[in-house]
Amino acid sequence: MQVMTVLGSVDVSTLGRTLIHEHLFAKWPGAEFFPPMKITREWLLQQCYVRLGALKDQGVRTFVDPCPIELGRDVTLMAEVSRKVGMNIICTTGFYHEGPGLPYFWRPMTARQIADFYIGEIVNGVDGTDIRPGAIKCATSAEPTETEAKFLEAASIAHHETGVPLITHTTGGLGGPEQQAIFASHGVKPHRCLIGHCSDNPDPAYHQRVAEGGTYIGFDRLGFEYPSPETSADNVVRLVRNGYRPQVMLSTDRLCVFQGQMSRKPPTDDPYELKALMEQGKWPPPQTFLIDEFFPLLRERGLSDSEIFAMIEENPTRYFAGEPF
Ligand SMILES: [Zn+2]
Repeated sequence: MQVMTVLGSVDVSTLGRTLIHEHLFAKWPGAEFFPPMKITREWLLQQCYVRLGALKDQGVRTFVDPCPIELGRDVTLMAEVSRKVGMNIICTTGFYHEGPGLPYFWRPMTARQIADFYIGEIVNGVDGTDIRPGAIKCATSAEPTETEAKFLEAASIAHHETGVPLITHTTGGLGGPEQQAIFASHGVKPHRCLIGHCSDNPDPAYHQRVAEGGTYIGFDRLGFEYPSPETSADNVVRLVRNGYRPQVMLSTDRLCVFQGQMSRKPPTDDPYELKALMEQGKWPPPQTFLIDEFFPLLRERGLSDSEIFAMIEENPTRYFAGEPF
């Protein structure tokens, strides 16, 4: 079974330890027009090398970057970083949700037209390159809108015709069951979907509901300010104890570089100190948080290392292989 990375297809058995939802770079549409936001490609590459190098030292072999098309997705950057660091990077096709994303031009298109565009990227490559997505990104508002539902339908069509899996963004820890229902209505099998950002919701009843829906469930924003890492650790352990370990995906949804207003407050107001912290890979907080700081919380709560690492090794591999639980 082959999986598409930004450097071409690899056997699924070579994915290894995988962070399922991370980013090299993203920006809000329009950030590029604001002069203080200007960065050089060289600097951007350097940030990515530092952070992915640190992940590589933790044994991470695959980095999934589901950057939506219109949020600065840069597949040639991904390919360059992948080659230099020696880590698989998997990119996605697909747009973000209404509000910050979903470009105006695309909104009135039919599901079939949108699906054809997604399929074109998956089959032929992104924007004239031969770099091909390995999954389809979907996104909804807290309450999925009619337009967003149409984009989920398009993603479902593209999934059926290409076989690549679906990875989603939910907003405010809501909308997971609604996404599941939309995918089901288009005949998508639950184990081909990862419902993302479920960890934004601290309520175990919500997690139980998504898990019972039979999809993967993303605890993929670990280390965000809310809910606390301790709350998320309690919730992960509860899911594992209830038998849902094969469905749980762990990641941090952090960026090496983001052009936009951060919801996190920087550790210093001094721009020179902040730049130094960035160059050392310490700001924004690095993706190494997952293994260095979150996994100890799972151990404290009684999970074994084999139970913990299965969630970032076996689960992503099975998801990309398309095998049932
Ligand atoms: Zn993300």
